[in-house]
Amino acid sequence: MTSQRTRERLIQRLSDQGIRDHRVLDVIRTTPRHLFLDEAMAHRAYEDVALPIGYQQTLSQPYIVARMTELLLERGTPRRVLEIGTGSGYQTAILAQLVPEVYSVERIKPLLQKARQRMRQLKLRNVHVNHADGSLGWPERGPFDGILAAAAPEYIPEQLLEQLAPGGRLVIPVGGDVQHLHVVDRTHEGFETRVVEAVRFVPLRPGTVR
Ligand code: SAH
Repeated sequence: MTSQRTRERLIQRLSDQGIRDHRVLDVIRTTPRHLFLDEAMAHRAYEDVALPIGYQQTLSQPYIVARMTELLLERGTPRRVLEIGTGSGYQTAILAQLVPEVYSVERIKPLLQKARQRMRQLKLRNVHVNHADGSLGWPERGPFDGILAAAAPEYIPEQLLEQLAPGGRLVIPVGGDVQHLHVVDRTHEGFETRVVEAVRFVPLRPGTVR
């Protein structure tokens, strides 16, 4: 079920789709995605699809995890990364193996608790999680060299831009029915935005769920 061959096939597919960063491909190859799913879904873990994790949320498709991670690391390795929308913790685990410190915010408490357990199980000790509304960022822990959002706002929250360090990069899906992945670089003069590709994420919602 989780045979090496199935995983290799996924890596081949990601590389065919244009993922070039070997650091990213290597980490995806060795991270057990099946551990981030309920048993009923685990047999599909190495397909390149988004999968349900409960609470109407999804574990992101490997392609988009790879693409966003590659974009975040494009200009060098950010030291401190903020992730909005921990979900299953899969993207968190990928980041934690590539950058020194990961701060991850999730609004649905039971999802966060499961994700925290998985981080422990995988011995990823450089992950800090917070049950909060991520549209406010994590001001006490900022600024961040990189910010990655796994849920889409209609407009980029001002707080996320404020918590981006100079030289830092934000990777975020933006929109409603139609969404596009945005890459925002903070320069010493201001912000530079690039629109990368059409994507489909769950909406960034306000408030928290206990
Ligand atoms: N990368 C995750 C994706 C989970 S889906 C994974 O692969 O498992 C997106 C997540 O964003 C959901 O868990 C959802 O609850 C969360 N989310 C939505 N709005 C949020 C907000 N304002 N603050 C924090 N998390 C939020």
